[in-house]
Amino acid sequence: MFNKELIINTKKLLSISSETPFGENVDEKYAECVRAMNLCSNILDDMGAKFVNMEFAGDSEKWPYPVPNLYGEINICNNTKDNDEFILYMGHIDVVPPGDINAWTSNPFEAREENGFLYARGATDMKASVMSFLMAMKDFAKKKKNKNLKIGVAITGDEEWAAVNGSDKILRCMKEQGLKPTKVIVGEPSSREELGTNIKVGRRGSLIGRVSIKGNQGHRAYPDLYSNPNRLFPFVNMILNSLQWNDGNEFMANTDLEVNAIDFGNLNHTSIIPGSLEAMYSVRFTDKQKPEDIVNTLNEAIFFKHPEFVKSIPGYDYYRNHLSSISLIANLNSVSLPYYSEPNVLANLAQEVIKEKLKIDAKVDAFGGATDGRFVHKYFPDAEIIELGLPENGGLINGINPDVSRGGMHQIDERASITDIEGLHDLYVEILNKLSERNTVSIQRKEGLDCTTMTL
Ligand SMILES: [Zn+2]
Repeated sequence: MFNKELIINTKKLLSISSETPFGENVDEKYAECVRAMNLCSNILDDMGAKFVNMEFAGDSEKWPYPVPNLYGEINICNNTKDNDEFILYMGHIDVVPPGDINAWTSNPFEAREENGFLYARGATDMKASVMSFLMAMKDFAKKKKNKNLKIGVAITGDEEWAAVNGSDKILRCMKEQGLKPTKVIVGEPSSREELGTNIKVGRRGSLIGRVSIKGNQGHRAYPDLYSNPNRLFPFVNMILNSLQWNDGNEFMANTDLEVNAIDFGNLNHTSIIPGSLEAMYSVRFTDKQKPEDIVNTLNEAIFFKHPEFVKSIPGYDYYRNHLSSISLIANLNSVSLPYYSEPNVLANLAQEVIKEKLKIDAKVDAFGGATDGRFVHKYFPDAEIIELGLPENGGLINGINPDVSRGGMHQIDERASITDIEGLHDLYVEILNKLSERNTVSIQRKEGLDCTTMTL
């Protein structure tokens, strides 16, 4: 259903250039981030919600300046007890930089409406989702009769970059204040092409590291004078690629490793043997793994317990005798931890609402990149988490994606369909309604109270 206020507010939010990292224009970018937060807090204020602006700084070399964040809350029917439903929505208003502005059809920070789509940086990831939830909260709160739910909203300006002065710290403050959400919706893009086809219940973690191989640079014609790291690398690569972890489940893929980048040699020179080689590996891992254990597995496989098949390859003795030239480094202090939240009440309820509203059987999965959902478990291990947001590729145009190189999250000409934005809002409202019904039933059962007469 056409929702004018939602689309107007989404356009306003999209037209603020709250990008991260702040880059060189720190003051200007900080001001834009504050503007985006103010737009959100004005909506919270309008609906009678309480809110607090939070600014966090430090703890990151990547981001030495303060980051605006916002927490808002509305408690309809004040007698909510600890074990009654308290739902928290998590979102971010920072966006990745637009890249080459000339490649965009229009200004990435002026929402352009065309053929039922809004085009701007952050349309899909994830300003339209943030606005959909805020407006859902407002619409839900408008009619208090028979409503009984505490709703929180945590909005950060630090998700796309360091993620150290954002959701992690908001959640920590919530815990310190005794706020304990039972259900969490992360509003990140959650389905590929169509709204509602997927709900995420986890994400794998991410560990990055390097392999360095020391050689001895020299003239190609004098092999006794040099040691070529390129001879050793295929051995290391073969071992890394042979590692397997069978630790996934029906929702989450197994832990796996990819070598992302290799840097060695000089393609413009024909007779220099390189003196060193650097490669980057990336491990995406499930909630069954600890980063330290993964690092041990890698070290063991390369240095101590070579797989049997490796021992039979020609030149094995050469490799074994040169192991001291190899070093393995893992960036353990920038690991993104995985999370997995067993699908339960909230996932079922979201599936039910999607079926009712969109006639789609939503699948539950845990694929995709890291999100702030990973911080929830740290502070609220009992909370059930789902991720439900817009389609990752920006939504289909006339049933197809006309150009997969643009339109999706982090791409040029990022877009979101107006129908999807309104649809997401309606899903959120209905999820709030259904959770509220659960609370009313449980409170009346426990205390015989009638919540319909209570107001904030
Ligand atoms: Zn995002």
